[in-house]
Amino acid sequence: MGITGACERCDWRYLGSGYPEVTKAYQDHLREEHPDTWLRR
Ligand SMILES: [Zn+2]
Repeated sequence: MGITGACERCDWRYLGSGYPEVTKAYQDHLREEHPDTWLRR
């Protein structure tokens, strides 16, 4: 079983093995695809 991360702003999904991995992948995604959201967090 894994943990799925999903983006609120697009169809991005990520399946990882733990919260730290999913959180990191999501933050990398935000930084690359939604820099305005990234800067706000
Ligand atoms: Zn996104």
